[in-house]
Amino acid sequence: MKITIIAGARPNFIKIAPIIDAVTNSGKAGENISYRLVHTGQHYDKNMSDSFFQQLGIPSPDVNLECGGGTQAEQTANIMVKFERELLDNPADLVVVVGDVTSTMACTIVAKKLNTKVAHVEAGIRSGDMTMPEEINRIVTDSLSDYFFTTSRKASENLIKQGIDGERIFFVGNTMIDTLMKQKSRFIKPEIWNHIGLEEKNYIVLTLHRPANVDGEYKLKELLEEIVKQSRGLNIVFPVHPRTAKKLTEIGFKSPKMSFVEPLSYLEFNYLVERAKCVITDSGGITEETTVLGVPCITLRDSTERPETVTVGTNELIGINPAALAPYMNMLFSGNWKKGNIPELWDGQTSTRIIDILNNLYA
Ligand code: UDP
Repeated sequence: MKITIIAGARPNFIKIAPIIDAVTNSGKAGENISYRLVHTGQHYDKNMSDSFFQQLGIPSPDVNLECGGGTQAEQTANIMVKFERELLDNPADLVVVVGDVTSTMACTIVAKKLNTKVAHVEAGIRSGDMTMPEEINRIVTDSLSDYFFTTSRKASENLIKQGIDGERIFFVGNTMIDTLMKQKSRFIKPEIWNHIGLEEKNYIVLTLHRPANVDGEYKLKELLEEIVKQSRGLNIVFPVHPRTAKKLTEIGFKSPKMSFVEPLSYLEFNYLVERAKCVITDSGGITEETTVLGVPCITLRDSTERPETVTVGTNELIGINPAALAPYMNMLFSGNWKKGNIPELWDGQTSTRIIDILNNLYA
């Protein structure tokens, strides 16, 4: 079986690394399986792409489509045009897409129009919030895919509700957690640790990149002020996503307690997360990692496509109103944060399960 694996943006790299390992191991064990890695170039610089390939041991992509930048439509169109050429030149039995970024959706459409089967890893998750570009990517990808690998029973149920035949849905767990478990003993102390003077469980990690939090000028400033106010003098480390950086310059917010840093490499970022008092974020993937690391997490969003991080894990969904922060910070500082458990099948073996299933389907 020849598979083409698609990766475009930061969270994708973390999800494909263990899948590539599993394909390689399966090939070594005598299965007839090989892969071609296509990087769409959606994220392209050292901080958002190269460092992940290096640290996670992902081989260099066979091709880079160099589709960075542009509006949602421009990027989708660019990826589609370039991936169509790529797939015509290098046909595959199956295209594997992960997550919910523009590349996931664009490559799925192209593959299906070329009559190539598609497997979606992290299928079926839904926030119900159609203002999120990711929700549209999820719905389009899942309406076209052939095989669905899910991170939770709830995600499988969402797909059944959408009318998908249960025989094509496989609840396997979470490939992002495969990476986390494999890399946990290799986390690296970032330079900023000593520079800022951080101490274990005595600082907060902050990440923000969703339009709902970032794009309203007044809103972002008010939110940052409230985070500083509620943090009881603790240092706040904010690795700034490229889409947030521009806005931060515009609003000119400064606080001696908040350190704005470049996006960190995976091993450095998770070193910080593992030792943080809490993480405040609007990311999806980070809520899964904090759940497994047992670190309190506050999500500044109205909805989540990953409800198990709240019902099972350490995450609380508090909405985007800065006023909602105070009671949760009280809970945190009084030592009453819920302990949380690890969701079913988030055990580090998901990618092996996926490749075993694909080997059986294509035997
Ligand atoms: N991450 C990282 N460095 C950072 C911020 C995040 O390595 O400075 C990792 C994080 O550990 C997680 C992933 O990037 O694995 C999450 O990516 P992001 O928040 O961009 O995407 P989302 O999960 O919201 O789709």
